[in-house]
Amino acid sequence: MKFRGGHNIFLQGRPDININLMPEPEVLYLPLCSRRFSFGEICVEEGQQVNGGDVLARDLDNYSVPLLAPRAGRVRLNAKESHIVLEEVVRLAEHPDIEDDNLPHIAKEMGASGIKRYRLLTLGAWQFFYDAYMGGLPDPLGDPQAIIVSTLSLEPFSARGDAQLHNRLLNFTRGLEQLQSLLEYQPIYLVMPDIKSEFANLIRNHIRGYAWVKMLEISLTYPYDDFSILARRLGLKRSEGPVWTVRTEGVLAVDRALTLSKPCLVRIVSVGGTGVKNPTHISVMPGYPIERIRDKYIFEPVSRIINGGILTGEQLGAKALGLDTECRGLTVLPELREREFLGFIRPGWSRSSYAACYLSSLRNKFSERFTTGLHGEGRPCVSCNFCEDVCPAGITPHLIHKYLYRDLIEEVEQARVDLCVECGLCSYVCPSKIDLRKQMIDSKVLIAQEKEEIRREQERQEELRKQEEARRQEQESNK
Ligand code: SF4
Ligand code: SF4
Repeated sequence: MKFRGGHNIFLQGRPDININLMPEPEVLYLPLCSRRFSFGEICVEEGQQVNGGDVLARDLDNYSVPLLAPRAGRVRLNAKESHIVLEEVVRLAEHPDIEDDNLPHIAKEMGASGIKRYRLLTLGAWQFFYDAYMGGLPDPLGDPQAIIVSTLSLEPFSARGDAQLHNRLLNFTRGLEQLQSLLEYQPIYLVMPDIKSEFANLIRNHIRGYAWVKMLEISLTYPYDDFSILARRLGLKRSEGPVWTVRTEGVLAVDRALTLSKPCLVRIVSVGGTGVKNPTHISVMPGYPIERIRDKYIFEPVSRIINGGILTGEQLGAKALGLDTECRGLTVLPELREREFLGFIRPGWSRSSYAACYLSSLRNKFSERFTTGLHGEGRPCVSCNFCEDVCPAGITPHLIHKYLYRDLIEEVEQARVDLCVECGLCSYVCPSKIDLRKQMIDSKVLIAQEKEEIRREQERQEELRKQEEARRQEQESNK
């Protein structure tokens, strides 16, 4: 497959392949919001005793996706803002909170596939699925044109697929089989870094005879693992139905839910970045106290913790007490509080930059020690075109930035800002420190709001027209 743009970022603090068990917690802080979900409907009461796997809350705007209790414990609803707190946490055998009698009518009509999809939703495995084009949660009872499974995670420092697959190849191939049983004839694309490697051969041997799995090789360049980029490159058109996408952890969750009938309560989360002692992966449950992870892994006294990878993650606020249900990794950067003395005259031997303007361009590739420092001031666009070079979506971020500056929203739309996959490379390479990614996201939201307003206005006008027409007909009949 041919891709455009992309760029690899070499930074210190890449998590190793190991997965470490964290000690069992006494308290869990389950955030009610994550990137895609907002668990607005609370299903438990203050002081209620729950078991692992019980439903604590649901997101009614996302197919009622549940927030499951990762362990048994007592519920506290008002102890911490925007969290459900579980106290007196103990690890007991979790029981799946499934009542097949409550199956929605449509799931029953779909037969075995409908029942399996409903189980994925209720056992917490559906949360690992994404719609390739929209990025949100796909309809579990929908009809996808294909499924893309990615074993890659190229953004520094999110959880690596190879770490998650370690010693779990059988679970992975069983999960693939279960995925296939949800479909009729649609293909499953399995994305790998090297389809001739020993590891790929192992997978191939496991899935021998699964004609519906097509292996795809992509080079290890960020963000070629992005689902909407992959869907576009595969020629899967948005108009021909949704494309479901899932990563390694999602396939393992499918296996757990459908083969073992167990709820998916544990996550493999990376802890990486320059502020971490031994960058690695940890096996934890949602709600795990961030304080305990900080105590064990973070050595920098003043550091910034980012929920997610370095390019697309969001800084954790002081109010975030536990890992949210979608967390794939924590990135920790030392906070640079003071300005670098005479930073502008430093030759940049230890700084890497897309522009070959530092002395470091004379060095071989090296991993930079990254901090939160900007290494310079923000300034206007210098039209270097770096952002356009690296953009995998083939759009011109610098042009969109200039249109936004002049409030030319129509031109922004014509420049196809909708194709932006929010990978953040443009912001990373920009020598003028312009946060282009944020501008792209904000302008997409603005355009969507304007379209929604126009749609509502059209509906209102149509309603008025109908009322006028009805009044006119009534008057004529009265005459
Ligand atoms: S414009 Fe969007 S897709 Fe292109 S580099 Fe920037 S964030 Fe990535
Ligand atoms: S990378 Fe920054 S300075 Fe260069 S063209 Fe893009 S917006 Fe302008």
